[in-house]
Amino acid sequence: MPQQPEPDCTLTQPDKRNDVWCKNPPPDTGSTAHKRIQRAIDDMRAISDTCATRANILQVILNQRFIHVYPEKALPRGNTYPPLYSGAFSPLGEGEAGYIGLSEVYTKFAYDSRHKTRPSPYVSESPTWLQQVLAHEADHLMGIAGHTTDPQTTTHSQACGGG
Ligand SMILES: [Zn+2]
Repeated sequence: MPQQPEPDCTLTQPDKRNDVWCKNPPPDTGSTAHKRIQRAIDDMRAISDTCATRANILQVILNQRFIHVYPEKALPRGNTYPPLYSGAFSPLGEGEAGYIGLSEVYTKFAYDSRHKTRPSPYVSESPTWLQQVLAHEADHLMGIAGHTTDPQTTTHSQACGGG
């Protein structure tokens, strides 16, 4: 039987990220979080064909209710490179069959280019926002494993992140 990429939430999840994914729901349609994610996807789609490819994958995953939003402190955010856990995660190369875990930082605070994350004593990262983070995860979903010199950045995260 082929293994589904998304965690089987009826089982104990040894990976902390997948455990957090299982324990936190997708945003309800019509909620502020859902609207902000949808707007980021729509804005991404309008930038270029490359970004539209990523937006279309994100749209399928959103429609499947496979973007789950978790409380900011559910996962530790380290200063290591690569980060032990980041504000978002997704399975490499699974495309629209994949899933995404997303910190509520990006739906409540850093939801567009005028509302960015702020560096803190605990998080050393460039200020970023929802559309960039979604583009970053879309790169991973498309099989791009690596980051650029900035661990917050992938090949297309900036160009497709808007702002
Ligand atoms: Zn990454």
